[in-house]
Amino acid sequence: MKRALLLLLLAGFSHAPVMAQVEGDKNALHPCGTPAGMDPWLRKYLATPIDVHDSNDTLWTALQIHLLARNDGTGRFGPDRMLDAFHRLNEDFAQTGIRFYFKHPWNLLNSSLWFEHDSVVQGREMMFANNVPGALNVYFMARAAGNCGYNLPYAGIAMAHACSGPNDHTWAHEMGHALALPHPFLGWEGKQYNPDLPTPDTLLYDYTHFHADPDTIVPAPLDTALVEYVDGRNCTIAADRICDTGPDYLSYRWPCNAQGQSNVQQRDPAGEPFFSDGTLFMSYAADNCQRRFTPQQIQIMRTRLLTDRAHWVAPAAPVTGLVVQAAQLVAPINSAPSPVNATVLQWRAAPNATHYLVQASKVGSFGIRDFEAVVSDTFALAQNLTPNWNYFWRVRAFNAASVGPYSASGRFLSTAVSAVQTAGEAGWSIYPTLLSQGTPLVVETPEHWRGQPLTLSVFDAAGRLLFRQERAFFSEREWVPLPTEKWAAGAYFFLCAGSPGIVRQPLLLAKP
Ligand SMILES: [Zn+2]
Repeated sequence: MKRALLLLLLAGFSHAPVMAQVEGDKNALHPCGTPAGMDPWLRKYLATPIDVHDSNDTLWTALQIHLLARNDGTGRFGPDRMLDAFHRLNEDFAQTGIRFYFKHPWNLLNSSLWFEHDSVVQGREMMFANNVPGALNVYFMARAAGNCGYNLPYAGIAMAHACSGPNDHTWAHEMGHALALPHPFLGWEGKQYNPDLPTPDTLLYDYTHFHADPDTIVPAPLDTALVEYVDGRNCTIAADRICDTGPDYLSYRWPCNAQGQSNVQQRDPAGEPFFSDGTLFMSYAADNCQRRFTPQQIQIMRTRLLTDRAHWVAPAAPVTGLVVQAAQLVAPINSAPSPVNATVLQWRAAPNATHYLVQASKVGSFGIRDFEAVVSDTFALAQNLTPNWNYFWRVRAFNAASVGPYSASGRFLSTAVSAVQTAGEAGWSIYPTLLSQGTPLVVETPEHWRGQPLTLSVFDAAGRLLFRQERAFFSEREWVPLPTEKWAAGAYFFLCAGSPGIVRQPLLLAKP
């Protein structure tokens, strides 16, 4: 993965303060907007199974993440929540040998209409306008047509924020759809099972907008599903046509007992009683029930990836290894004093990590953050902190295919008085403060700063390091060339640290 690219995309995140968002109750949402439907590929595969060579190696499956916000940029899924959801997805798929990875940087989109869309048709337009080839496109927004999520077989997945928490399995469920799995209760979508009526043998269903391609015309949307029997007599042709998922007629969010089974007893068309299996991700059981795909479901998903979705699979592992360890904090820790206007948070690299989420908060739960950034270095600059607070801070290491645990929390005491001086206070002149691209910075130093090792750094407004150089100044006026041609227009901070202290100078970079 190109570091610069990821940095670029992450630049859209505002760094402070980050508030918890109100996005409604997930129980008020429909579990999944994907209606009854049998993917033509699956229909064909189950009728005449093809023998693909599956070495059981990890299938590295490319994702393109799109994070929606309102027109003004508010409401977007934060990087902490995105990493939680991604970690849960890969945990849910751990038994399948399929591992998802970020192929490209997260795409940040601002559109109030798409951010809270009411119909799947609007979602489809969003996907057609923004999809990236060579990856499964996944969109996160506040409202996904009233559903926790849905999958359009020819376009991508939409996910509602409220159903994308660290213990939610909606993403795994929609991913199952994207890899050709139907609901085990296929045919019952939108219908209510009634134990007082005889169970029918067939069900008619409509899957407008959810065909394999968008061009299918009526009357194709209507199809018939056979109702599955308990004894397995018709399992190859009934419901999802997958035999190791038992009968299930429940098409609403339902709770399970300690064994993961439904409390509602159902009867098949022969009158045989049974309970639904809530451990399946493809069921509509509550999140705390779901924990698995069946062996046949796994085989179907892998075969799908090895055949007509092979363009999503990377030929080789896209990462050097998985991130499993937490980063170790270096400084400031143990309530050490640290300046409100220039706290440099520093930690040790975690194995295989390419990026770090770093957060500072007044509260130990990190529910509200005063500073939050994603960086590829092992330090970040936090500014504009409140004086005299015992701050908490922590780091989470990750790479394109895995997310490590959060580090232990460090503490520091924010102080208004510090060794950090503005350039003017320290007797320096640094100019021009309004930079144009390609123009070197002129630095005039007082005599007691000269002839000694100094560390020069430039951070962007989000606290990410963009430039670092060890050097000494020997004459009164020297030039510091900066690689500004790679930087976006905006606010930056120049920091110079040495034994006399720290000097800080804000800079503005003008557009070329
Ligand atoms: Zn579904």
